[in-house]
This record gives sequence, structure tokens and C-alpha cells, in this order.
Amino acid sequence: MKDNNGKLIVISGPSGVGKSTISSEVVKRLDAYLCTSVTTRTKGENEVDGEHYQFITTEEFNKGIVEDRFLEYAEVFGNHYGTPWQPIEDALEEGETVLLEIDVQGGLAVKKVYKDVQLIFIVPPHTSDLKKRLDGRQRGENDESRKKRLQGAGEETAKAWQHYDHMVINDDLETAINEVIEIIQGKTGENT
Ligand code: 5GP
Repeated sequence: MKDNNGKLIVISGPSGVGKSTISSEVVKRLDAYLCTSVTTRTKGENEVDGEHYQFITTEEFNKGIVEDRFLEYAEVFGNHYGTPWQPIEDALEEGETVLLEIDVQGGLAVKKVYKDVQLIFIVPPHTSDLKKRLDGRQRGENDESRKKRLQGAGEETAKAWQHYDHMVINDDLETAINEVIEIIQGKTGENT
């Protein structure tokens, strides 16, 4: 088990729930560090390599596994994603607040290594909102990809209710951002 100075936070939620918007606002307001994952999936039209993800080949990804460079890695919707270990360790040692925007299986894997991690799941007020938001994303996603993401939403939410520390409903964006900040600052109890 790892013990460290900074705070480690995992933010998960179904595709289209707005977790990237929430995470980037939280990072700005708390001057926190958002860890960039690596992925083998195709870069979307509006995505920037090295910012949203580090887009790498399957070969590079497999090399990362062999070299033990990932805190956790997983296959999500047919693509590979991994959380690089070193930048997180460095930031935590510096006493920074570190945010990971990863899925529920990733969050649970991180909890096994960092016992003090706070696992936060963002829930949409209505499932129909997810479909609307997924359809509106400029990522060049096809119908199959959107369908997989919608189907995965139910399973992930059920798992999060069982195992996550906090559930935050993204009904009003500003309220959701503030709730996440309060959780990070330790002003809220468990299972909010
Ligand atoms: P998307 O392709 O829509 O950006 O992400 C698909 C899913 O993969 C999301 O639930 C996202 O949180 C998750 N994800 C992104 N990076 C990682 C990672 O490094 N590890 C894991 N386990 N999941 C990730």
C-alpha cells in the first residue's frame, strides 16, 4: 500500500455525463494535477494529443505494460487505456492533489494500491441526457461506439453504487463542481 502527502482522487462516470468538464474546472480552481492517460483509441476531431490523452500504438502500449509503467490499465469499449504511474507518484510526493479520470474498474484497481484514494462517480439526472450528449460530441464516433458507451453506462453505475465513496449528480454543473471540490477538501461525509 502506498502512503503519500498529496490527495489522490478518481473521477468516473458514464460517457457523456460531463466528467471532463467537471474535472477540468476542479483542476483549475484547486490548482490540481490532472493525469493524462494513454490510449490506443483513435483521436477525436477536437482532441489534442498529450492533453486529452496520449494517443499511442498497441505496440507502445504493450511495451508500457512490460516495463511496468502503468498504475492500472484496462480495455474499455474495445480500446486500451492506461494510467502512467511515475507522474502520479511525483505529484503526490510534491503534495499535489491528483485527479484521475478513469473508469470504474480502473478506480477499483487504484484503490488496491492507494488506500486513501477518494472514488467519485458522476451520475446524470436522466439517462436520456447521455444519449443526447453522446450524439452531440464531435469525436468522429460511429453508432457502434456510441451504443457500446450507452450500454456500459448502466453496468458502471451499478458497480459504482456498490464500491465508490461518493456519487455526485450532474444536474446543475456549478453545483456538481462545488460538490466535488467539497469532497476533495474533506467537507463532505461518505456516500454523498
Ligand atoms: P473515452 O474513450 O470516452 O475518452 O473513454 C472511455 C472510458 O475510458 C471512460 O470511462 C474513461 O474514463 C475511461 N478511461 C480513460 N482513461 C483511462 C485509464 O487510464 N484507465 C482506465 N481504466 N479507464 C480509462
